Amino acid sequence: MSSVNTVQGSVDADDLGLVLIHEHLRFRDEAVAEEWPDRYDAQAELDAALEAVDAAKSRGVQTIVDPTAMFGGRDVRFMARVAEQTGVRVLACTGIYSYDYLPHYFENRDVDAMAAHFVADLQGGVQGTDIKAALLKCAADAPGVTENVEKIHRAVARASVQTGAPIMAHSMPAAGTGPRQVQIFEQEGVDLARVQIAHCGDTDDVSYIEGLIEKGVYVGLDRYGLEMFLPIDKRNATAAELLRRGHAERLMISQDYCATIDWFPPEAAQVFESRGAIRNWSMTLVFDEVIPALRKDGVLDDDAFHTIFVENPKRWLTA
Ligand SMILES: [Zn+2]
Repeated sequence: MSSVNTVQGSVDADDLGLVLIHEHLRFRDEAVAEEWPDRYDAQAELDAALEAVDAAKSRGVQTIVDPTAMFGGRDVRFMARVAEQTGVRVLACTGIYSYDYLPHYFENRDVDAMAAHFVADLQGGVQGTDIKAALLKCAADAPGVTENVEKIHRAVARASVQTGAPIMAHSMPAAGTGPRQVQIFEQEGVDLARVQIAHCGDTDDVSYIEGLIEKGVYVGLDRYGLEMFLPIDKRNATAAELLRRGHAERLMISQDYCATIDWFPPEAAQVFESRGAIRNWSMTLVFDEVIPALRKDGVLDDDAFHTIFVENPKRWLTA
């Protein structure tokens, strides 16, 4: 029996149940939030997180993986509060979410020193608590795998090799980052069965996604509702084709929903909705629209559903 770290302590992997693999209880810049706290409404943020998680729970979700890392305002006390009040398990990560920028602190320390920070979060506890991270996080986006991004990937990889923790890597299919990210993990000796390349569902290039699956990694079809990257019909068609080709055991389906996010002024959400850049983005969209569509298409039966939402998360987190 293997166990998994949650913000409420270690649980048996068999008890994770139905998992949403990629959702954010809150996403904000920790530096801005620290410097101008009065620009943030703490109660409204908490209420939004509780509402989103309760809605997911009403669809049967028992566990949420929240891969909010450094620069996303990771706050395990906030996560623990939400987990406590909703009864939904939450898994926290360690790592750095940057498309290139690194603080001088990490610029002037080497890969192994960076990795040691991640290992401490996985084995000791995060932010002065005894809450241990369950997974590692890194990112590559439009700038590609820059020198700094590569450094973070190698540090994450080394922390994974040392601890056995799984890795989630934000990727950008439009910039073709996935193969290079996988290559770095491979060079560092990571077990690729512990790697998840997030946001693969932002492309409908099935052969690109299949190329990653063939390396043995999981792929995230995890941004349902973010129409600006790819509309839901194309996301579903891609998922259906991958299922038809027998890849259920490598797929992760989620929404990358942020209960609150400070990237834009509050009024922007309505503008995005009205322009169709986001549509019904929530922690329940996959249950309300995606699964019914895939079932109707005949590509998702009960077994495949169980594989994607129960078995895959468990296998990735514990293999
Ligand atoms: Zn995310």
